[in-house]
Amino acid sequence: MARNFDTIVIGGGLLGCSTAWMIAREGGRVLLVERDQINQHASGSNAGSLHFQLEYRMIERGTEAALKAAEAMPLHLQAAELWSALPALCGETIEVKQTGGLMIAENAEQVALLEKKTALERSWGLDNRMIDRAEIERIAPYLSDRVIAAAHCPIEGKADARTAGPALARAALKAGAEIRTRTEVTGLSRSGGGWQVALSAGSTSEPVSAQTIVIAAGVWTTRIGQMMEADLPTIPLALMMTVTQRVPKLIPHLVQHAGGRLSLKQALDGNILIGGGWPARLMRDARGEPDFDAKPSLLLSSLSGNAEMAICVLPALSRVPAIRSWVGTTTVTPDQLPLVGAVPGCPGAFVATGGSAFTLGPSFAQVLAALVAGRRPETDLTAFDPARYGRS
Ligand SMILES: Cc1cc2nc3c(=O)[nH]c(=O)nc-3n(C[C@H](O)[C@H](O)[C@H](O)COP(=O)(O)OP(=O)(O)OC[C@H]3O[C@@H](n4cnc5c(N)ncnc54)[C@H](O)[C@@H]3O)c2cc1C
Repeated sequence: MARNFDTIVIGGGLLGCSTAWMIAREGGRVLLVERDQINQHASGSNAGSLHFQLEYRMIERGTEAALKAAEAMPLHLQAAELWSALPALCGETIEVKQTGGLMIAENAEQVALLEKKTALERSWGLDNRMIDRAEIERIAPYLSDRVIAAAHCPIEGKADARTAGPALARAALKAGAEIRTRTEVTGLSRSGGGWQVALSAGSTSEPVSAQTIVIAAGVWTTRIGQMMEADLPTIPLALMMTVTQRVPKLIPHLVQHAGGRLSLKQALDGNILIGGGWPARLMRDARGEPDFDAKPSLLLSSLSGNAEMAICVLPALSRVPAIRSWVGTTTVTPDQLPLVGAVPGCPGAFVATGGSAFTLGPSFAQVLAALVAGRRPETDLTAFDPARYGRS
């Protein structure tokens, strides 16, 4: 007979681990299933930026796109609070530093964009304000004098992507969750008012069942949706990152740019992480479909473009050797807003993905834990409803 759980969580990235933990600590009998290792994919290879301001990709396409992206601000605010409470709440060591973020401007056009953006974010309740060159010199003397203004958001920061997911997996186990790694969900069907879930591990397969399921599968979300004949549209993106040698304490902030793709921050051990959304090449299979099992290929143009932009605003970087670049795959949605809520046409199935799901992972998890428990989440989910793509 199939073993039965209250909830089965599909995916062992940051989102799946935090969701399993939040459900288990409320007493839910939860099974987390991960086809590879915990934190092996996007959650373990990202930049660890906790950006609560609108990112460059959200403002580069004009006012309307920025207004739309700002609808996710309640999730940003919830995530900012959750990240600072997370280590104490889960009783695990997670490196979280919210020492402020700067989105910088190098010309009058970027300053005007930042002013508009800051006003919009403040209208949603984000603590963010413009600072001038004099204040930049005082709080961020490491920045080049090309930087003439910035938006300063004191609650932004960083978390260690390598350790956050595993810490939450340990917390989930301590709270009573069961975790299966190297086990793939290969089929999903409705059965007896709940879900029958086919698991496959090597040459063995096993059915399990649950009242509710949570899809926390990152770039695989659309494919899991197909198993249930549900349309969960996502767009995969391959990105690259670079890290430098360790240097003495230099950058306390998360730095982003109002005029292009850039994120800079210094890890606790001194390495400087350089990223911000520069593309890598996504591999495709023989049918032309994205192949998420193949490592994307690094683009030289991205490597040099990202480094050049970083050195322009942080001149000290030109003397610091880079030691490693890597690639990873993540997902956005067609309208850039996250996909969070009930899976259309699939009672008892819930999903969350899209965009900066490391930053927003804890808020997505809190929403998902409320939904599986039958509670109305604190945040209004209308804008993120997965059913929005099926509506005419
Ligand atoms: C280079 C890079 C830099 C980034 N920088 C940032 C950043 O600074 N800040 C930020 O907020 N976000 C950033 N992101 C995005 C962020 O990493 C992702 O949004 C986030 O990690 C997604 O977490 P997740 O748990 O939803 O998905 P994932 O971490 O991808 O986890 C999904 C898991 O589901 C598992 N799975 C899939 N299908 C199945 C199945 N059938 N059965 C069982 N398991 C399955 C997969 O193996 C995987 O482990 C970055 C992404 C990349 C690639």
